[in-house]
Amino acid sequence: MDDKTFYTKILGIKLPWYVKQVVVDEAAQRIDIYLDHEKGIQVRCPECGEFYGMYDHSPERIYRHLDTCQMETHIHVRPPRVNCPKHGIKQIDSEVGENGSDMTYAFEGLVIRVAQECSVEATARLCGLSWDRSWNALDRAVNRGRARKEHRVASRIGVDEKSIAKGHKYESLVYDIDAGTVEFVWDDRGQESLESYYRQFTEEELTGIQAVAMDMWDPYIAATKAYVPEAEKKIVLDRFHVMKHVLTAVDEVRKSEHRKLSETGKETLKGTKYLWLWSRENIPQRRQGEFEELRAQDLKVCRAWAIKENLRHLWEYHYAASMRKYFNRWYFWATHSRLEPIKKAAKTVKAHIDNIVTYARHRITNALGEAINGKIEKIKRMACGFRNRAHYRTAIYFHCGGLDLFPKPPAKPTLCFRTT
Ligand SMILES: [Zn+2]
Repeated sequence: MDDKTFYTKILGIKLPWYVKQVVVDEAAQRIDIYLDHEKGIQVRCPECGEFYGMYDHSPERIYRHLDTCQMETHIHVRPPRVNCPKHGIKQIDSEVGENGSDMTYAFEGLVIRVAQECSVEATARLCGLSWDRSWNALDRAVNRGRARKEHRVASRIGVDEKSIAKGHKYESLVYDIDAGTVEFVWDDRGQESLESYYRQFTEEELTGIQAVAMDMWDPYIAATKAYVPEAEKKIVLDRFHVMKHVLTAVDEVRKSEHRKLSETGKETLKGTKYLWLWSRENIPQRRQGEFEELRAQDLKVCRAWAIKENLRHLWEYHYAASMRKYFNRWYFWATHSRLEPIKKAAKTVKAHIDNIVTYARHRITNALGEAINGKIEKIKRMACGFRNRAHYRTAIYFHCGGLDLFPKPPAKPTLCFRTT
């Protein structure tokens, strides 16, 4: 079997296409395969799918293909253009690789599979590509996947933000709680950005949103109220985020009390930060004796801790009315505690209570996005090679978007022999 027949077989080349030439460069460890087509053909219009006469050829395109053994393999082709009476002069959908790509369908699929398992830098190394070409493949995969994605609104969504670097850089994202997929990513924390997510849908579609979990962050609340019908019944402020406000207050009480005690030479609270922040059941066994001793003393932080621990019970109730009743008792206690940080936190929570008791009905938190969080942490660890935030967003869609990323060759042949 000669090399042209060999490649015709393994590449699955069918007439009127044929392998015109194979150039093996042993020194460069590279193989170049030139495809051409027979004369007297018709070309399929990519718009209507009908065969019409050929107009001319596009300039030669070179696609990187899977290696032949250890040799880098490239396919050269000049795709014909069709002269369609209805759609004008069109380039065919290439059977070798996507029109916008410099990789064959098979090679691009391999790059995507490798990138799903490791960083872009490693992908570039393993596939023998430049860093830019690897990113281009990821970009194309995400664009393809997003274009194919069914236009539908998720019924339960979470709005969450991720710090992507030390300091104050954030990526915000909307995810589908039930599918566990990221639906939308943007790079600030503003109202306008979340609104641009909602604006993709009609009012009727937005009615389909049943519940929205989010942090106590007014721009997100405002955006959701502006677009989602009956948002006030659907927004569920994340319980862990609510608790975080109270935890911060407990820590402030500890710090100021520790400062005062230290001034009189007492180091009672030294090294106790997490004893007050951990949930009761999470205090390690070996520190429980120490904790009980502290609790026996008349400490402010001890009161703050008890107030914090009691708020946790709020989410055990199954009816909004019971949650409100419990909260009002807690609020009275917190605001009469003479602990300023606790009073302040209690007031913040009260200002948002209408969208906290919605938990009774929807029972969602942002922790439902845990699977996504894990993946995003993985992306962050691989992020050293990202260089800019657009790449970070691409990576989130690539790994967490639940998208159909792979390029597909045209379903039907693009050339045929002229019949008349
Ligand atoms: Zn046409």
